[in-house]
Amino acid sequence: MHVKIPRVPLVATLVAVVAAAALLAAPTPVRAPAVAGIVRATATGQTGTGQAPQTPTTPPPTSTASTGQEPPGTAPAAPGGTVPGATPPGTRPPVVDHGPRTGNKVALTFDADMTDAMRYQLRSGAVRSYANLKIIDLLERERVPATFFLTGKWVEQYPDVTRRLAGNPRFELANHTYGHLAFTPDCYGLPRIAEREMTADVARTFDVVAAYGGRQTRYFRFPGLCHDRKSLTALAPLGVTVVDGDVVSGDPFAKSWRPVVRASLDGVRPGSVIVLHVTEANAPMTDEALPHILAGLAERGLEPAPLSEVLGVG
Ligand SMILES: [Zn+2]
Repeated sequence: MHVKIPRVPLVATLVAVVAAAALLAAPTPVRAPAVAGIVRATATGQTGTGQAPQTPTTPPPTSTASTGQEPPGTAPAAPGGTVPGATPPGTRPPVVDHGPRTGNKVALTFDADMTDAMRYQLRSGAVRSYANLKIIDLLERERVPATFFLTGKWVEQYPDVTRRLAGNPRFELANHTYGHLAFTPDCYGLPRIAEREMTADVARTFDVVAAYGGRQTRYFRFPGLCHDRKSLTALAPLGVTVVDGDVVSGDPFAKSWRPVVRASLDGVRPGSVIVLHVTEANAPMTDEALPHILAGLAERGLEPAPLSEVLGVG
């Protein structure tokens, strides 16, 4: 029986970093988020506090490729084995934290946030870059597979970098909303998207990313990992898999690479999905941490792989 991992330590880290992010993103004073703010919505739409292990009722796998033995919280297989992460449209999407705890694969996932506030920082010259090319250089040089959760506005800001990501056969592309708005009422002070606009926002982002080709997926990650029944229901028409992750690196606004490395390696296990950021100015230590993370994974006998392979649907 699969028991969901308590998220409290990860949550505490995430709360700190997303709250910091909100300082840039939100024009209004930031309310300190409760730990319960980073709850994980179950497939029944109930929200857990993250303080007690949850056993969500993930919709059953539908593909024949499935063994039928995956515990809740692992990925369903893609119908027809086509696009990774694709689920039957019309059903509320499953929420996945990690893949099967067998084998030795783990997923490095990099979020590419871009809010209007961030774009203003760029245009005003206050910030040089939200695209950390040193990360991409390293992954390319070391031939490391990775998965990038892209916001539509980041793609529009960095078309050349997006082309580079799409052109790498080891990289998968996924969806992180169009403008990194909050999809729940209380998500670290991020400006909130209207419920009626959620579906179109995510659909539009798929369209923006699809134009670049490469290894497209139907994986989706909510900003701040904030979701509830309404936001999950809004995604039902799109046939996606929601991917949270079970290892939160805490890289946004890190002052040193060491805590990022520690957070990335402490809880990592076969099937883990590690959440990192490629946003440079907002995650300035990630490129320094990455070689140490890769070395630590190798020491543990763990091997980075595309998300679809880690979730067992590749
Ligand atoms: Zn994000």
